[in-house]
Amino acid sequence: MAAKNSAPPTVDVVIVGAGFSGLYLLHRLRRLGFSTRVFEAGTDVGGTWYWNRYPGARCDVESMQYSYSFSEDLQQEWGWSEKFSAQPEILEYAGHVADRFDLRRDIEFETTVNSAHFDAAQNRWLVETVKAEKVTAQFCIMATGCISTAQTAEFMGLADYKGETYHTGNWPHERVDFTGKRIAVIGTGSSGIQAIPVLAEEADHVTVFQRTPNYSLPSQNEPMTERYSRSWKDDYAELRKEQRYTPKGNLRELNDEPALSVTAEARARMFEERWAIGGPGFLGSYNDIILDKDANETAAEFVREKIRSIVRNPEVAELLAAKNYPIGTKRICIDSGYFETFNRDNVALVDISKNSIDRITERGLITDGKSYEFDAIVFATGFDAMTGTLFKVDIQGREGTRLRQKWDAGPRTYLGVMTAAFPNLFMITGPGSPSVLSNMMVSIEQHVDWVTDSIVHMRDQKLETMEPTLKAEDDWVEHVNMVAHKTLFPLAASWYMGANIPGKPRIFMPYIGGVGAYRRICEDVVAEGYKGFQFKSDETQVVAAE
Ligand SMILES: Cc1cc2nc3c(=O)[nH]c(=O)nc-3n(C[C@H](O)[C@H](O)[C@H](O)COP(=O)(O)OP(=O)(O)OC[C@H]3O[C@@H](n4cnc5c(N)ncnc54)[C@H](O)[C@@H]3O)c2cc1C
Repeated sequence: MAAKNSAPPTVDVVIVGAGFSGLYLLHRLRRLGFSTRVFEAGTDVGGTWYWNRYPGARCDVESMQYSYSFSEDLQQEWGWSEKFSAQPEILEYAGHVADRFDLRRDIEFETTVNSAHFDAAQNRWLVETVKAEKVTAQFCIMATGCISTAQTAEFMGLADYKGETYHTGNWPHERVDFTGKRIAVIGTGSSGIQAIPVLAEEADHVTVFQRTPNYSLPSQNEPMTERYSRSWKDDYAELRKEQRYTPKGNLRELNDEPALSVTAEARARMFEERWAIGGPGFLGSYNDIILDKDANETAAEFVREKIRSIVRNPEVAELLAAKNYPIGTKRICIDSGYFETFNRDNVALVDISKNSIDRITERGLITDGKSYEFDAIVFATGFDAMTGTLFKVDIQGREGTRLRQKWDAGPRTYLGVMTAAFPNLFMITGPGSPSVLSNMMVSIEQHVDWVTDSIVHMRDQKLETMEPTLKAEDDWVEHVNMVAHKTLFPLAASWYMGANIPGKPRIFMPYIGGVGAYRRICEDVVAEGYKGFQFKSDETQVVAAE
């Protein structure tokens, strides 16, 4: 047994989180000869796909593209059963990756990291877990996920409720049986939209409480065919290369012409074609849908018309049709029969846009003076995105600077990967990078490669610490804002803007410049001697690149 006051064990790199980011980090760092320790709050790997087990949870990017590309053997041997895989299969894939590359032995499960403090005298991070375990490391990498802290809505009276409650982002591991039950679903973002059709199949009755209608596109999901799978696998290496330089990390045809440059008939044909194909490619129908209000309106109105043609009750159809913000400026939802579900006799829609929920009662809830009773309430109320999970850890950089304090008015990073005053602390898909605006598998792999290459660079050059200069960070924050404001994105009160969290600063957090353009910037930064970063060697000399 270790002596009580002995120094904590030390490794080269601590990784927090064992989702797709943490798994690939561990694999890569291990291969590069670094000692690592991974801490994961859950009991198993998979991150998002471990926690979000709600009925209907599914990928909104095609699985042939939402999967790792780092191993040719892995991508050739793994087979998906559907075009857009469901959560259990994606979780199985994460487990397969962990086993195939023997990753579990370095992961400590059920171990939440509480704090990470930088010791400037030693140039090391001291990381402490909920189990009071301590470990020091030269590098600390937050692979904690962008949408991993469920936003539990604070409804008055919630504690009085005697029925069952669930949050889609923290769903029980055992099957929940809703047969014969009356349930409420609060929230119609991506998770609600995926869950509602499946819940309606099982429950006696479902009442959907909608504050904001969301644009949703049909997935047109179907079983994977050998032919379709082969069309990817035969040329995977080349297709993946191409995918990395696309605007969103998805290979689909972006039609590079403006929407209003063609006739209304031609537009209708194009939209119809893309609707029939399914998935988020609809937004690529024209190159200005996210840039030009009028162009956007043509796509938005097409979707509204589709809703009107699907939903039989015209009042319900109008409530479901989003009108107050441009299409695509909140993460587009991809559904399997969402709008059709409102034609069922056992599904009701309650509009809470004007009168929000007054309170939860012992048996249900009250809104607009009317009482409802339920056996279960499902909260599909989303996440404290991008910063929420980081803030749950007490992260202190140089001179005790707290991350939460530094980011009080909104996150500040250089490239979304590091923040000044926090040497050797990296974030995977952090704010200021394309992250949630992209196929995240592509963004995760790019960040992991870039971060691990930087660590190798430091080892080769015998450098102790790395951090961005304040100027580089300020310039990047300005650039991220400038690019965001050239688009229609800031027009929506979205979680990209922190608008779903009371009191959170309204800053557009991800980088909208595009996955390919962002990758080139990261490559240029390295080619120019890590432009904007400063390094310290053991002789404490500062090697700044501006
Ligand atoms: C319902 C849902 C559907 C999604 N669908 C898609 C999709 O179709 N396409 C797409 O591109 N993206 C999608 N995403 C985004 C998804 O989060 C990413 O694709 C990807 O899974 C993120 O992986 P990650 O490893 O970076 O983070 P996560 O998967 O979130 O993993 C982070 C891990 O860190 C752990 N952790 C956090 N804090 C601590 C701590 N303090 N101590 C210890 N452990 C900690 C968490 O327990 C978690 O396991 C979806 C997200 C959700 C919520």
